[in-house]
Amino acid sequence: MVGQKRTLMQFLEYLQKQVVCIPYGCWIWTGTVNNGYYGKIKFKRKDWMFHRFMYELCIGPIPEGMLVCHTCDIERCGNPEHLFLGTHKDNTQDAINKGRFDPRRLGNLQIYKAMLKVH
Ligand SMILES: [Zn+2]
Repeated sequence: MVGQKRTLMQFLEYLQKQVVCIPYGCWIWTGTVNNGYYGKIKFKRKDWMFHRFMYELCIGPIPEGMLVCHTCDIERCGNPEHLFLGTHKDNTQDAINKGRFDPRRLGNLQIYKAMLKVH
């Protein structure tokens, strides 16, 4: 356990170096990004999206099929206080409500499928 903890601590130190805090309170990932939007990290040989990793680390396990959404709309933000769980439907609706929905930008077939079920 102790060994594992130290590994996690070292990993967090590494993360800290890649994260920039902005006045709004976002923890912005500045390292590698996935799809051009989400922070991508590797931990224990597994690829994680930065915000999902932070959610699991600080809040708890993400139920299968759930998304981790942002109240701040900044995909690279990993501040647990800005993260909430949602379904694809919630996320799409949230995006529409906030006026940021742009299918070309999302470019994700799953989102389109979710949309079709919603509307
Ligand atoms: Zn944020």
